[in-house]
Amino acid sequence: MWFTEAWTPNINFQVKIKEHLYSKKTPFQQLEVYDSYELGRFFTLDGIMMANEKDEFIYHEMIIHTPMSINPKIKHVLVIGGGDGGSVRELSKYPTIETIDMVEIDEDVVRACQKYFPITTTGFSDPRVNLMFDDGLKYVKETKKTYDLIIVDSTDPIGPGEGLFTQEFYMNCHRVLSEDGILINQHESPYFEKEKIEMKRAHQKIKSLFKIASVYQAFIPTYPSGHWLFGFASKRYDPVLDFKDTFIHQFGVKTKYYNKEIHTGSFALPNYVKDELENI
Ligand code: SAM
Repeated sequence: MWFTEAWTPNINFQVKIKEHLYSKKTPFQQLEVYDSYELGRFFTLDGIMMANEKDEFIYHEMIIHTPMSINPKIKHVLVIGGGDGGSVRELSKYPTIETIDMVEIDEDVVRACQKYFPITTTGFSDPRVNLMFDDGLKYVKETKKTYDLIIVDSTDPIGPGEGLFTQEFYMNCHRVLSEDGILINQHESPYFEKEKIEMKRAHQKIKSLFKIASVYQAFIPTYPSGHWLFGFASKRYDPVLDFKDTFIHQFGVKTKYYNKEIHTGSFALPNYVKDELENI
């Protein structure tokens, strides 16, 4: 039995399945959980790989430790999406953080991950975590709170995730961020046409709103092409010049992927990617 994801109409990604553990049509998307021979357990939303036991650490370390190594004064964090809990797990390693608000639209994703992915959901028991089931687009529009860091750990810009790639959403993120604020978003990929178009669109909107708008990369083998990007936007900080390598070590945060060379190196993009981002 195989799980097949069409990366393009001409390229499929396949994973040999040991067991199909769970399936549910939620009010927002189709949720499937599998066990596999080489990736361990993994789950998909609308047929797209979300997270698996073998390489989820790459994405979650890169989306959290990169901004956390820039501003040691980060106290109030908002996570939009992130239903598997991996981002919250990494955030909970910092005692300097005072509150972690997480706004996930689909409660079924959280409950399924709590049952099948204990590896990523450990952070939900942290008393600083306030888990809300709501649309992130609506939350940032209505909240009166101010945040030092916003993590947009979203699906692709289809279905419920579409609103998290709009100008309105980024404008409201800018509004609720403090003067030191940093916005990190799942920024698609430069390789295949579909993700490249979304990467350019997101970058254009974020660049029009933030003083600093950079892009960094990681190698995530189970995402389309394996070349995956994150957006780093800030009102004040440069992600390389303001990098504080020592901060992460103060708390004994252990990482399997992220380190100081990866931090600065991940912002060194290939020329073809820089050209695509500059020629919107
Ligand atoms: N890419 C991550 C990783 O590598 O582990 C996984 C992403 S996480 C599963 C994406 C989450 O965004 C999903 O749980 C989905 O339900 C949530 N989501 C999608 N649209 C949303 C919205 N408008 N507001 C809040 N959460 C949303």
